[in-house]
Amino acid sequence: TVKPVAKSGKGKVVVAGVAISSPDKVLWPARDGNPAITKADLARYYEAAAERILPHVGDRPTSIIRAPDGIEGETFFQRHAMAGSNPRLKLIDVAARTPYVAAVDVGGLVAIGQSGGLELHPWGCAPGQPEVPDQITFDLDPDEGLGFADVISAARVVKAKLEDLGLAPFVKTTGGKGLHVVVPIRTDARSRVTWDQNKAFARAVSEAIRVAAPDRFTTTLAKKARGGKIFLDYLRNGRMATAVAPWSPRARPGAGIACPLSWGQVKAGLDPTAFTLWTYATLMKKPDPWSDFRASAVSLKPALKRIGL
Ligand code: ATP
Ligand code: MN
Ligand code: MN
Repeated sequence: TVKPVAKSGKGKVVVAGVAISSPDKVLWPARDGNPAITKADLARYYEAAAERILPHVGDRPTSIIRAPDGIEGETFFQRHAMAGSNPRLKLIDVAARTPYVAAVDVGGLVAIGQSGGLELHPWGCAPGQPEVPDQITFDLDPDEGLGFADVISAARVVKAKLEDLGLAPFVKTTGGKGLHVVVPIRTDARSRVTWDQNKAFARAVSEAIRVAAPDRFTTTLAKKARGGKIFLDYLRNGRMATAVAPWSPRARPGAGIACPLSWGQVKAGLDPTAFTLWTYATLMKKPDPWSDFRASAVSLKPALKRIGL
């Protein structure tokens, strides 16, 4: 069932206080019996999911994939604030040419949707602290020949390695071909690490996994090195690097979302294409598998030592 659109004035659509222009513009075309998804639908998704998205995106510099004419039109990756940025968005100065933007509340998320922002790619930093990493993302990228079962078993290898190091890994779909294994880390003054340490740790863990099973894993970016392997992409973890946010939609056919999972779901039969803008209402009725994400953070420092850094 489709929720009624909040209207104000002459047929204007307003979501979380943000006026949505061209609310009927199709962003994702109808597919497999599912209806087209419009800009008003996207705005309502951001509103409905805000409580789950903001803990991961709020007050972090966020790159946005914009597709003002929908996924079949031109898309672009926007890193910096642009002229006319919505006042609902915070500008963050990170000593770059131009400031970055961040959502801090539901209105900011909806404002991103209003500008045709379909994907959210935040830094892996603590809220309000662009120089302080608060998570590590292992981006598992399967070579073309591999099936999702291979991605699942690879994620379990990464999980075991991280647990060995005393960390608490979480897992999410990407809305694409792989999975992300993400570790929350503490950011208090005694525990915090630099961006270089964060990235060096991700690299060292990835190398250790590759060395233990070189027929299954590669850490080389070049596509030709992938031959039937999982690329452990550790490059999401430096300063200014981004990864798609939990609950972010993807500007791809199928309207998938990057969906937090419990580890119990990561087993044979998991269909990553089942988590979409068409099915999110059901997902939102279930508990958030990542509700303990922040509370599970531990200091990275002992783990850095154990891996030899
Ligand atoms: P998949 O599961 O299909 O691999 P993914 O989100 O992990 O999905 P990748 O291509 O592995 O996709 O990772 C791309 C990541 O790189 C994105 O999450 C994004 O944050 C980051 N990124 C950096 N620059 C760009 C860019 N110009 N366009 C798209 N993504 C970019
Ligand atoms: Mn990936
Ligand atoms: Mn990647």
